[in-house]
Amino acid sequence: MAKQTFAIVDCNSFYSSCERLFRPELREKPVIVLSNNDGCAISVSPEAKALGIKMGGPFFEMKDLIQKHKISVFSSNYTLYGDISSRVMSLLSNFTPELTIYSIDEAFLDFTSLTHFDLNHYAHHIKNYIETYTGIPISIGLGPTKVLSKMANHIVKKNRQIGVFSLIDENIREEILKDFPIEDVWGIGRKSALKLKAHGIRTARDFRDYKNDKIIQAILTKTGRKIQDEIRGISCIELTDMESKKVIASTRSFGTSIYSKSELKEAVASYITQAAEKMRKQNNLCLVLSAYIRTSHFNESFYCGQSSYTFTEATSNTLEMIKAGNEIVEKVFKAGVPYKKAGIFLFDMVPTNQKQLDLLSEKPDTTSNDNLMKLMDKINSRYGKQTIKSGACGTKSYWAMLSDYKSPNYTTSWNELPKVS
Ligand SMILES: [Mg+2]
Repeated sequence: MAKQTFAIVDCNSFYSSCERLFRPELREKPVIVLSNNDGCAISVSPEAKALGIKMGGPFFEMKDLIQKHKISVFSSNYTLYGDISSRVMSLLSNFTPELTIYSIDEAFLDFTSLTHFDLNHYAHHIKNYIETYTGIPISIGLGPTKVLSKMANHIVKKNRQIGVFSLIDENIREEILKDFPIEDVWGIGRKSALKLKAHGIRTARDFRDYKNDKIIQAILTKTGRKIQDEIRGISCIELTDMESKKVIASTRSFGTSIYSKSELKEAVASYITQAAEKMRKQNNLCLVLSAYIRTSHFNESFYCGQSSYTFTEATSNTLEMIKAGNEIVEKVFKAGVPYKKAGIFLFDMVPTNQKQLDLLSEKPDTTSNDNLMKLMDKINSRYGKQTIKSGACGTKSYWAMLSDYKSPNYTTSWNELPKVS
C-alpha cells in the first residue's frame, strides 16, 4: 500500500479565540468560556490556564481567581463558533483533496497525494494563511497515520511557539515515541492506560512493540489493535472508530456553477437530509445549524455567504432543519453570483435521551414528527438512499447530476491535476 500522510489542524483554545476576535483588547489576556447555563469552563486561554484555571472546572469554584486576576468570562455562543468554524474549514478545504472534519475545531487533511511537497513548509504556510484570514491561531501535527499526526499535534500543544510538528521522519518518531506517555495517545483513556501499565506498557513505544494481541484486544477491544497499528505507521483507523463526532458536516462542490436561489436551497436541503440521517443514527440532536454557499476560489470576485441558525430546542428533525437551511440561503444569497460549492455543519450535539425541553416554547408536541423521521429512515435503509425525502430537496438535482459526466477538476483538485507523460 502506498505511504499515506495526514495532517491534523487544531484551533487553539477555539471558543476563547473566537471571543477574542471581536474584542482585540483581550488579546494575550486571560479569557474563559463557560458551558450551557454557565456551569463550568469549556475553553481556557493559555493566559487563564497559567493563572490556575482548569478546563472543565466548575464556575463557582473559580470566582475568586476570576476577580483577583480580572479574567474575562463569556457564556458560550455557539452561533458565533459555528460561523467561525465553517470559515476555517472552508479555507482548509483548499489545501487538500480530502478534508475530514473531526470536531468544531479540528480537521484531518489528507496529504497523501502531495508527494512533491515539502510538507513541513506547506503546513507552516497553511498556518499563516488561516491565522491571517480568520484570526484564529492553529496548531498542526503531521504523520503517516491519523494517530501519529494527533501525537505530533500533542507535541505542539506542549510547545505552542513551534506551531507545526511532524512525525513523518522515522528517526524523529523513534525519539518521540520512547518518551510519549501512553495515556496521552489519542483514543486511550485513563482507565485503559492504567491497565496497560500493569502489563509494563508505559510509553507509545512500549505499546507499539508489545506483541501479545490478545491482551491488547481484551483491554482496548478491536479499536485498540488499530491504534497500535497506526503507531506502527499503518494507516487503518476510521473516525467512526473513535469517540462519536462532535460535529457533522456535509459539503460538496457542484457539477456546474449555479445561479438560482431555488437550486441552492435544494442543494442545501439535500445536504441537511444526509447529515440529519447520520445524526439520528448516532442518536444525537443538534442545537445549531450553520450553512455556507460560495463561488470558486478562482473566481475573481470571490464570495462566500454564511450564517448559523440556533434552534429553540435541540432537534434531529429533517423538515425543521431544512426550514432553517432555507432561511440561511434566503439571508446570504446574492443574485448574479456563480455558486460552485455549498456546505452545512451541525453543532452542539446532545444525545437524544438528554433532550432538555424548553419550558417557555409554545411549540406543539413533536412526537408525530419524530415518528415520521423514524419511518423515513426505515424506508430509506430498506429501499435505498433518498427513496423518500422532503420535496424541498428537488427532484431533478441538476447541481449534482451533471457531475457524473464532467471532465476532471484540472485546476481545483490535486487528485485531478492533468498528467504529463
Ligand atoms: Mg482545539
